[in-house]
Amino acid sequence: MNVGQEEMVRSLREMVGEDYVNTDVFERINYADTSLPYDVEEEDLPDVVVHPGNAHEVAEVVKYANREKIPVTTYGSGTSLIFGTKPKHRGITLSTKRLNFFQIEEDFQWFECGAGVTIAHITGELEKRGYCLPINVGSRLQATIGGAVSVNTCGHLMDYIYGKPVSNVLSVEIVLPTGEIIQTGSKSIRRATGWDLMRLFVGAEGILGVITRIRMAFYPKPETVDTVAFFKTAEEIGHAFALMFKKKLPPILDGEFVSEKCCKVGYEAYGLDFPEGAMAVTQSMGRTKEDALNNAKQVADFLRRAGAIESFVLEDAKIRGQVWGVRENAMRWGKEKGLKGYLAIEVNPPLPFLPRAIRELNHITEGRNDLIGGTEAYLYGHIGASSLHCLFAFPYAWSREKMKQVVRDIWNLEKDLNIKYDGVGGDWGQLPYRVPFYREKYGETSYGIIKKVKQLLDPNNILNRGNLEGEE
Ligand SMILES: Cc1cc2nc3c(=O)[nH]c(=O)nc-3n(C[C@H](O)[C@H](O)[C@H](O)COP(=O)(O)OP(=O)(O)OC[C@H]3O[C@@H](n4cnc5c(N)ncnc54)[C@H](O)[C@@H]3O)c2cc1C
Repeated sequence: MNVGQEEMVRSLREMVGEDYVNTDVFERINYADTSLPYDVEEEDLPDVVVHPGNAHEVAEVVKYANREKIPVTTYGSGTSLIFGTKPKHRGITLSTKRLNFFQIEEDFQWFECGAGVTIAHITGELEKRGYCLPINVGSRLQATIGGAVSVNTCGHLMDYIYGKPVSNVLSVEIVLPTGEIIQTGSKSIRRATGWDLMRLFVGAEGILGVITRIRMAFYPKPETVDTVAFFKTAEEIGHAFALMFKKKLPPILDGEFVSEKCCKVGYEAYGLDFPEGAMAVTQSMGRTKEDALNNAKQVADFLRRAGAIESFVLEDAKIRGQVWGVRENAMRWGKEKGLKGYLAIEVNPPLPFLPRAIRELNHITEGRNDLIGGTEAYLYGHIGASSLHCLFAFPYAWSREKMKQVVRDIWNLEKDLNIKYDGVGGDWGQLPYRVPFYREKYGETSYGIIKKVKQLLDPNNILNRGNLEGEE
């Protein structure tokens, strides 16, 4: 870094205006990615937070940072759970909040927007017109489209319904690490075959450029009907879902599950009298409500035949709310128990390994004091997409060092499980914590290719420095 904080701030203010450059300690904490279970320290904070208002201002900031070799961390809403927005080398945190332009072009069947627009806003605007966004993350109220596209996640949705963002993004505007702006893609709903630079940046987790604008296809909003099924064990849910595809049932949009222990706390929190055991919820879709209902009935029948104690279509709005409440309670629970923060991991086994993986994860979350003693943990996830989450909640009493060590142990555990079950790492991207997994699974030649691409586009390694290196 060639310049000090004072000079950096002066230069940045000239580029984006006084009001949009901030060195206030609370603002720097807000943009430091504080979702790790342990408190942030001064060394974890960026020197300055900058909020450019358009691609040209982003380009100015990045060009300047490149010239002065200042690290730049791009920040959407900081919810990625793999801590890609935690600055590893201080410098500038570049927020996309003011890139908030949004426009629906119904004649063209796409929308175009700034990278900082939230998933909830886009979903709301599309739904008003009878369309849906092919992304549904649990963090939709805060998560930005730029963040979701940068990690290439479709969230809860089954991958094979609409595909990942890389299948639906028609174009991105990128500010390269040198400050040049490039456009990719087209206005047609037909995506290019062969070389299409857009694909290099979707899923690049911010290491190759800053996405400033996104054009994306949308779909007619399907009618949906949910079902719930109660099983004696979560492992049985694994068996049922592993079989579901072979039975060629009407495809579901979303399939969620909550393990035995997690159900128990959810039922307690809501004062519910549901059958003991584990719970699966599915969302069937159709062009009309009647289609969706027919499809949901087939799923409920199938789940009963596959061993559910009870399964039914969720026609009663109150019960539907309670069922989803139990599922969503998964993340609130740690806080209710007075625990300090949490860390979630994800294992995505191929279908035939689902039951075995669930059995092992359930065993881990129910005990395993040797590894994660004292954390409260439980299991839930997007089982329809073969995505199993363990959530570990940390007690307040632990020292920072102990928390850091346990965080490392937990990521190691995730790596070992994904290697063992041939998983792919999570919805939230690979960098930085899944770098060891990536290297072990795909080998040093593959990892070396990504490093070479990074070196080619970002020779001074300014964008999200430390993430590709796997730094904490
Ligand atoms: C309660 C909760 C529920 C969640 N549920 C889900 C879920 O169901 N499915 C799922 O996949 N994820 C989920 N997540 C993880 C996360 O919310 C999503 O991955 C989300 O899409 C991230 O968006 P963001 O705006 O917060 O991105 P950020 O966390 O800000 O950024 C993510 C990465 O992309 C980079 N980046 C961000 N914007 C840009 C840009 N414009 N250009 C270049 N790089 C950029 C960042 O540097 C970082 O590396 C959940 C998180 C929480 C806290």
